[in-house]
Amino acid sequence: MLKLVVFDADKTLWDHHNISDFEEPLKLVGTDSVEDSKGNKLTLFPYVREALKEIKSMNLLLGLATWNIPQKTERVLKLLNLWDMFDFIASNDYPYKFLGLTEIILKARERGYRIRPEEIAFFDDRRVHFGNVWLYLGRVNCFEMWTDVKSFKEVVEVVKSLMNEGPRNAFKS
Ligand SMILES: [Mg+2]
Repeated sequence: MLKLVVFDADKTLWDHHNISDFEEPLKLVGTDSVEDSKGNKLTLFPYVREALKEIKSMNLLLGLATWNIPQKTERVLKLLNLWDMFDFIASNDYPYKFLGLTEIILKARERGYRIRPEEIAFFDDRRVHFGNVWLYLGRVNCFEMWTDVKSFKEVVEVVKSLMNEGPRNAFKS
């Protein structure tokens, strides 16, 4: 049964490819955009907030696994008022998502949750990570954003179906 949903950040939750490039001062623009001092700007993709809320309301744990400087991730998430949505955040200055997912699994264990790979759904815009996730962790349900799922409404549908039907798509390459 599904217990944990993990998202990548850059090009998955928002349209910028690397928020570690952002330089202070950062400012919130409207409700869903953050701009830095050099004119870099990110905007959340449509329905991200609603999707995260819906997933939380299903009693699932929510994680973020991102290749970004931790301080930048925290700053941006707090400006967007999304910091508190995530139960676990693995923000690291290296790209290996299987290590980020491992970090999240261990953090969850410290809080009393034992999560098996097949009880995880992982959404990332880069399929290249999935091979190592399957090799080192096992049957995590991996989905390539904008290919396997084309919107955050679809993300919610996939999460619902995983809750109802059990694992699928685990070894799609
Ligand atoms: Mg990404």
